[in-house]
Order: sequence, then C-alpha cells, then structure tokens
Amino acid sequence: MEPLRGGRLANLSDEEKARLKAMRPDEKIPAWAFRFLQSISDVTVVLSGMSDMEQMKENIKTFCEEKPLSEEEKKNLLAMANEMVRKIVLPCTACHYCLSHCPQGLDIPTLLALYNEHCFTEGGFIAPMALSSYPNDKLPSACIGCRSCEAVCPQQIKVSEAMADFADKLGM
Ligand code: SF4
Ligand code: SF4
Repeated sequence: MEPLRGGRLANLSDEEKARLKAMRPDEKIPAWAFRFLQSISDVTVVLSGMSDMEQMKENIKTFCEEKPLSEEEKKNLLAMANEMVRKIVLPCTACHYCLSHCPQGLDIPTLLALYNEHCFTEGGFIAPMALSSYPNDKLPSACIGCRSCEAVCPQQIKVSEAMADFADKLGM
C-alpha cells in the first residue's frame, strides 16, 4: 500500500527528477516507486491509489513490463530517499528518554513519527486516521509547551514546537 506515499514520490523537485532521468531517461517519475517494488521478490501485490483515468493508464503501462532496478540504481535511489527524508523529518530515534518527563503523558515518539509522516506526505491520511483513535488528552493539542521533554532529548528536538505545528496542521 501507498507505494507513492500519497503522491509525494511522484512530486519531486526539478533536481531530484533530473537525477532519476539521468539514470533512465524514458522512465516516468511515478514509475520509479513501482520499479523499486518490482526489485523486491517478496512483493507480489502493489496497491496504489489512483485519482483519474490517466493515472490508471500510466500504471497499467508501467506494470506491463517488469523492469526491476539494478543494484546501482537501487543504491542511488535509496541515497536520494535518505536526503529527501533528512530535509523534512525530525530526527527522533524513539529512545523514549522523554516519556517519563511529559506531565501530559503524551506518547511523544509515536506522535513525532506521525508528525514526520504527515510532513513528508504533505498532509496524507495516515496521521489523521491513526490519531482519530486517540483520546483528546493524548493528541498533539494536549501539549502544554512545558518543554520538559526537550531538556532531556539527546537529539535536541523542539518537541513543543512540533506538537503545536502538528495540532495546527491537523486542525485538532
Ligand atoms: S512540551 Fe509538550 S510534549 Fe513535551 S513534556 Fe511538555 S507537554 Fe509533554
Ligand atoms: S528523547 Fe528525543 S529522540 Fe528520544 S524519543 Fe523523545 S523526542 Fe525522540
């Protein structure tokens, strides 16, 4: 599921597109995610959401051919993916040091993982869906900005700002 990460992997910067085109000039950008999956032998079914007939036609065209990535292409693609992720997400390692310091009892690493997901996909459905099962007093909006967690975070993450931004983005 979500091979294109809610469309995020089809929507690259000009520089990122140029890097992919340099490797396979004729490959469409969204097809790279599918070619990556074709390179994993255990993946037998790919579920990709499509918004219109054009996308469906493109996907059918892509899957008419089996063109898995070479080792070199895979290495380049993963390096690109790492760069993309590093630019956007907060470097929470889920060490859990902060948990016992939160007076609100928030599951900070899980919330940050969902925040990262939400930022990376530019507002996908995964975070809102996951948080819909949370009680109100465990949502990002329950953060009181005390920054106790920040005082012990080895990654020096500004958790209070992330929680405020997350609550704002979710409108919760
Ligand atoms: S800043 Fe927010 S998340 Fe961090 S300890 Fe305080 S209430 Fe918890
Ligand atoms: S202390 Fe920092 S790195 Fe560790 S789980 Fe909390 S926010 Fe993440």
